[in-house]
Amino acid sequence: MSAELPHLQLKVSGQTGIIGGLMDEKLSQIKSFYERAFLEIKPRNPLPEINVRFYPYLGINHTIRVRDGKVYVRIGEICRDAPLDVQESLAFILVGKLLRTRISPAVSAIYRDYSKLSELREQALKNKKARGKKVISSPYGEFFDLETIFERLNLLYFGNKLKKPTLSWSRDRTFRILGHHDAEHETIIVSKSLDSPEVPEFVVEYVVFHEMLHILHPVERVNGRRRIHTPAFKRDERQFAYYSEADNWIDRNIAQFRRKARKRRKR
Ligand SMILES: [Zn+2]
Repeated sequence: MSAELPHLQLKVSGQTGIIGGLMDEKLSQIKSFYERAFLEIKPRNPLPEINVRFYPYLGINHTIRVRDGKVYVRIGEICRDAPLDVQESLAFILVGKLLRTRISPAVSAIYRDYSKLSELREQALKNKKARGKKVISSPYGEFFDLETIFERLNLLYFGNKLKKPTLSWSRDRTFRILGHHDAEHETIIVSKSLDSPEVPEFVVEYVVFHEMLHILHPVERVNGRRRIHTPAFKRDERQFAYYSEADNWIDRNIAQFRRKARKRRKR
């Protein structure tokens, strides 16, 4: 995974124009929350270099990790529009996790309430969509066939044991979420944005593989909290032969693809 790290800075500074400027400003503000969290939690430790960026994780997910003494924070796309007090709360949660320190429940509650709310909002939106329009289209894209990909992955990684869910490309070329598994309706939806000759097949496979793991690892409830990407899930995810290549590709290309999708919509 270390191969992707040089891109982190590039993408942030590569933003141009007013929106890019605002984005840089927001990110640097968010970064200052992480610096404060480090200083408040471990006042005697020297402040590490911190890199913060948004990342198109599949679902609500954020990570913090250390590489060569530098701290890398990836905030899930879904929280891109979260207010600053929520970002601040998340900063303390993640830094607390990294430093194995309990943080004040009052601080973490701000993020938790927000994520509960946005989960509800997302669910409401999904329900509305399901009522209004047909969300499912077809597993056969212009370039990739999800059925074939599923069959191959099932054979390679799951001993053909996974029951085939309904597989479908999404109707819209959204980039906020690349894949989605709906346990209730036994459906895997993959963002149509990936059905393109510019996308390597292992990237589509990686997204399908991730969603297949959700079938293998149902959501756990620990102390009333939902655990979606458990350590066991993440361990299995790394079994994918092109795990770092796919992760790396998404990291490098997603911003560019999102811009193209915006242009296409305008036309
Ligand atoms: Zn997931």
